[in-house]
Amino acid sequence: MVPVVGVLALQGDFETHARVLRELGAEPRLVRVPGDLDGLDGLVIPGGESTVMTLGIEREGLAEPLRSLVASGTPVLGTCAGLILLDREHLGVLDVVARRNAFGRQVRSFEADLLIAGLSGGPLRAVFIRAPWVEEVGADVEVLASVDGHPVAVRQGPVLAVAFHPELSGDRRLHEAFLTAVHENGGRSGG
Ligand code: GLN
Repeated sequence: MVPVVGVLALQGDFETHARVLRELGAEPRLVRVPGDLDGLDGLVIPGGESTVMTLGIEREGLAEPLRSLVASGTPVLGTCAGLILLDREHLGVLDVVARRNAFGRQVRSFEADLLIAGLSGGPLRAVFIRAPWVEEVGADVEVLASVDGHPVAVRQGPVLAVAFHPELSGDRRLHEAFLTAVHENGGRSGG
């Protein structure tokens, strides 16, 4: 099957995610209104500005449909601002508290080679741009990678969230792992 993967396209780096997904054999669909979520096999919430995206989610009435999508077991990948949007204080579908711009003013952007649990092939080149880190982690959340002791990649069931921009480094392994989850979920639901 060619999975249809939504990319929340209210603001931020959605076009690059869509391009990466297409390169990897999925069919991206830009999501701007609730109807765009119908029948999706997966969803990416990109990096950008979480405040702007939060306003867009409210304006378009997307919060409840997004929560239902996660509750249905559809795989979701949240990156950077996307991680923030998934946390307890926003959509509340990932049992963590993200701290915005956590790496401080003087370190707005940096790159790091990150070993991510479950991702084979060695460290992933990770681009951090005014990135959050995860401040509190709930019992059902698995920490996959940390920087200086702060979680920057976590998973809870079908939700995978990272504090960096996996679409910017040219290393496609995180998107590939996400699409593997999408395929596995599609096989289970028969869709
Ligand atoms: N600093 C942004 C926010 O708090 C996130 C940065 C990003 O997504 N690159 O929304």
